[in-house]
Amino acid sequence: MADPFKLLVLPGDGIGPEVVAPALRVFKRLCQLEAIDTEIQHDLLHGAAWEKYGTFCRDQTVVAAKQSDALLIGAVGGPQWDDLVIEGATPAERDGLMRLREELETYACLRPSRAYEALLEQTPFKPEVVSGADVLILRELCGGLPYGTPRGIDQLDDGSFQAYDANFYSSEEIRRFAVVGFEIARQRRSKVSSIDKSNVMQSGILWRRIVGEVGANYPDIELTHLYTDNALYQMMLRPTSFDVVLGDNIFGDLASDLVASYAGSLGMLPSASLHGLNSARAAIYEPVHGTAPDIAGQGIANPIGTILSVALMFEYSLQRKDLAQRIEDAVEQSLQAGILTADLGGNASTEQVCEKILSALN
Ligand code: NAD
Ligand code: MN
Repeated sequence: MADPFKLLVLPGDGIGPEVVAPALRVFKRLCQLEAIDTEIQHDLLHGAAWEKYGTFCRDQTVVAAKQSDALLIGAVGGPQWDDLVIEGATPAERDGLMRLREELETYACLRPSRAYEALLEQTPFKPEVVSGADVLILRELCGGLPYGTPRGIDQLDDGSFQAYDANFYSSEEIRRFAVVGFEIARQRRSKVSSIDKSNVMQSGILWRRIVGEVGANYPDIELTHLYTDNALYQMMLRPTSFDVVLGDNIFGDLASDLVASYAGSLGMLPSASLHGLNSARAAIYEPVHGTAPDIAGQGIANPIGTILSVALMFEYSLQRKDLAQRIEDAVEQSLQAGILTADLGGNASTEQVCEKILSALN
């Protein structure tokens, strides 16, 4: 008998628990149908952990994470914790999710988005412009601005303030990340667009140089470098011409929310955060969106981004692309049946979407 697949579930805050519950039901149903042996643990993260334990991520959560095959996370944060000032705290100490990304070194964050035929009218695009769009934003997740030091808000002699952040990248961090992008492009449409601001940022100059060096090893992949501002503009003008897009920790974050417009809602987008391809380390699966405090507690959050994150889990951590496809097909069926949450212009509840997808799985 193979070892059971070890999953650590961290629902987080806001709508996190509301979208993780249906995704976990889909995971369990498919494992049951396919006789996949699992071992599932639950824990608190970020705001939920802060309220109970006074820390955003306990050491024992990190230990459990490192012993897992995969983590399923909702989302973390909320106004009551976002502006807490904790003197001298590192970024990882101020954010439970950032701590787990750092501890597991999940530097490659895959964020696919595409246009669904059933949702073309829900997008802000003319259908003929967005139809067929299918992109994968690859976001660097362990370096750059969110983790960079020095950082701070200092008071000056005249009483006013000065704030600063640092976008640190080593050539090795860029190289290992870019390799993932080119490898994934080989399994897609063989196009890589790398976005940076090398016209105004030193980190951008190094980024462009290293991505170019890695790209030279992949003559079969068409590599284009774009300045980020122009790239985002082009991604709105001609959505179908992009395939894999490489961005640093900030630019990748911006690009992924932007391309959620292809799918009709930010609530549709999944992610897989990996320590490279084919690593034995635990991977993190979570929706791209945040905790949506504006709709939390109402049972109307779109669970599809989290359910599709479970599909990515089957693809990348269980090596079962066939089961990932089954979830994607079930989601597609649910969309075609018009079972849509409010963000997609419908009035279905989270529960109703989940039930429809579960029944389509069988
Ligand atoms: P958000 O992604 O939470 O919400 C943006 C908008 O999209 C809101 O109008 C929200 O209602 C809507 N939305 C998001 N997910 C949805 C879903 N599944 N179904 C329906 N509608 C959905 O971003 P925000 O409002 O900028 O941030 C809210 C909080 O989330 C903040 O505390 C922020 O720090 C945190 N955040 C966490 C993560 C994460 O955990 N990975 C990511 C982004 C933001
Ligand atoms: Mn984001």
